[in-house]
Amino acid sequence: MTTNLRTAPVLRDRTVNLPRAKLVERVDYTDDLMVIKMEPQGFDFNFKPGQYCTLGLDGIERAYSIASAPHESALEIFVELVPDGELTPRMWRMDVGDTMSIRPRPKGIFLMDASVSQHLMLGTVTGVAPFVSMVRDYLHHGRSGHRFYVLEGASYHDEFVYDAELADLAASYPDTVTFVPAISRPADARNVGWEGATGRLNNIVAEYLDKFGLDKSDALIYACGHPGMIETSREIVTAEGWKWTEERFWKE
Ligand SMILES: Cc1cc2nc3c(=O)[nH]c(=O)nc-3n(C[C@H](O)[C@H](O)[C@H](O)COP(=O)(O)OP(=O)(O)OC[C@H]3O[C@@H](n4cnc5c(N)ncnc54)[C@H](O)[C@@H]3O)c2cc1C
Repeated sequence: MTTNLRTAPVLRDRTVNLPRAKLVERVDYTDDLMVIKMEPQGFDFNFKPGQYCTLGLDGIERAYSIASAPHESALEIFVELVPDGELTPRMWRMDVGDTMSIRPRPKGIFLMDASVSQHLMLGTVTGVAPFVSMVRDYLHHGRSGHRFYVLEGASYHDEFVYDAELADLAASYPDTVTFVPAISRPADARNVGWEGATGRLNNIVAEYLDKFGLDKSDALIYACGHPGMIETSREIVTAEGWKWTEERFWKE
């Protein structure tokens, strides 16, 4: 019997032959934010802190920055639900034990630049993920000589998710880690009781560069997440001669 090519499916799932990663832990922080741990099945996924993996369901693939450090057994991913999106609503239906396709190799060049010693990291909500990986990895290896200033922005305080961990690290390693979470909607009822920093990252970055006393010749500013925050912050700081690197999660 000959195959009639006209009846062959037009769209083929390009991910069917890819390796799988199994969901081994899921913690929901808000209705639209969760942290999942994915265990690659039957292969080692070697990556550098700051890189991302490509995960898929039903043939739909997207990039996800890895929040875990390479020494950890599972890939930790901080995901935001995009209600009209193609992949994230499917991810929200996943339970522990379910699997996703995973491209076997990591991607990305958003890495810690060790040629400078001061690292100012601007992240909006899920954009904190690569910084968590970099800081965890750095401390895991007991390195010294570098200093991380993580400035995380969110609309609401319950969107920070890694705030307890970063605050603990800042308390335990005060010469290495500084953490400032800042909310942009202090008047909102959801933020009642908030006593920390306020303002959008692009509006407060100059103030914090000053407060931290960073040195332009020995500092790099990293920005990750919301493209609007990245664009506006980049314009402000590069005009002043600061070195800059960025990772945008989507296009506006
Ligand atoms: C290098 C890289 C790393 C990324 N890392 C992460 C990560 O760690 N965590 C994470 O949650 N996402 C991350 N993303 C975004 C992710 O790849 C998907 O775009 C996102 O999960 C939405 O997928 P979706 O299929 O549900 O929506 P899609 O169908 O792809 O998107 C629908 C629309 O929503 C826009 N959009 C995408 N993400 C958002 C968002 N968060 N808020 C508002 N609009 C958005 C898209 O541009 C598009 O217009 C990363 C993207 C890149 C390029």
